[in-house]
Amino acid sequence: MQDELTQQVCAWLEGQQQAMQDCLEALVNIDSNSYDKAGTDAVADLITQWLEQDGIMVIRHQRPDSGDILEAHLGGTGQGHVLLMGHRDTVFPTGTVAGRGYTQQDNIGFGPGVADMKSGLVMNCFVMRALSHLPTCPLPVRALFTADEEIGSPDGRAFIEAAAQGARVALNVEPGRVSGNVVTGRKGGAGFLIEVTGKAAHSGVSHADGASAIETIARKIIKLHALTDYEAGITTNVGTITGGVSRNTVAPFASAQLDTRFVTTAQRDQLYKAIEAIIAEPDVPGTLAIIEQTSEFYPLEARMSSALFELYQVQAKAIGFAVDGEFTGGCSDAGWTASLGIPTLCGLGPVGAKMHTDEEYCLLDTLVPRTQALAATLLNLHDVSFASAR
Ligand SMILES: [Zn+2]
Repeated sequence: MQDELTQQVCAWLEGQQQAMQDCLEALVNIDSNSYDKAGTDAVADLITQWLEQDGIMVIRHQRPDSGDILEAHLGGTGQGHVLLMGHRDTVFPTGTVAGRGYTQQDNIGFGPGVADMKSGLVMNCFVMRALSHLPTCPLPVRALFTADEEIGSPDGRAFIEAAAQGARVALNVEPGRVSGNVVTGRKGGAGFLIEVTGKAAHSGVSHADGASAIETIARKIIKLHALTDYEAGITTNVGTITGGVSRNTVAPFASAQLDTRFVTTAQRDQLYKAIEAIIAEPDVPGTLAIIEQTSEFYPLEARMSSALFELYQVQAKAIGFAVDGEFTGGCSDAGWTASLGIPTLCGLGPVGAKMHTDEEYCLLDTLVPRTQALAATLLNLHDVSFASAR
């Protein structure tokens, strides 16, 4: 049984299907690769316009090199707020829209970023708009629209962490799973660049004078891959290697890119120590290996989402859909807030699939109900104790 505020918000959202689709089409039809500041800023312009039309305060943090950061506020700027998160960038290069913009076939919307996560941005805008139509917003709500999640949030992370300070919960509108489920657990991950220097020598004339960087990196790759532990959910993968100058030269340099995934922050700390030890081991005399971390996402541990998910499930049922929680190996911004001890739920966006491909799609009839469930969860947080997450 929904309370009056929840009913009011859900009733307003019920009439927004076409308006939401129109907004989705407008956002998809703007190229906004993570490195395309003009594009991600154009997406920010539209969102600002929509929110300000309803009198919602929007703060824009100008960023010199990446897309600006948008922050919308309702119900005051106090602590104990709800943090809504979404990223405006996509993985698709500038120019993609000219070749294949937004299209629609019955209930399915297609186009770059239609699921990941322009439909989620539309959701957050409509949650804010729905709440703004109440006589007073019952709790402070902050919606953050960042611009570089697809490259690991190098610029967005600090804003997410700042916006999460004092937050009651964080809700992230990454696409819902193809099953319709939301995401209650995510792996964390980190990328590394390994570089080895050795000593060049003619492999026929003076082989013994050389020190092979390729041999060192090869030995290290075997040890790094041995850290994979499927049962524990830890994987390591060297995805690229380069090195050497010619077949008949002992290789003076080599490099490799390492990807790692883990389920808990405790595993992360252990894994990093093990990797550092492997890099420090002397494999071939005369060679030297160094490692540099190039990206990082923290995991969303299931204990951080469980209480929040139970509330979401109850609210979804009242609205009329069944939903379960799902674990995924993919990383997201949800890890930053969860690792700060903020109860966090992810994958709350409309249902989509084939993300990061030309076939990406979004199920349009999930726009309204999932927006209603998100708003209802936000309005019923007083029902939940989050003691287990802390
Ligand atoms: Zn995403």
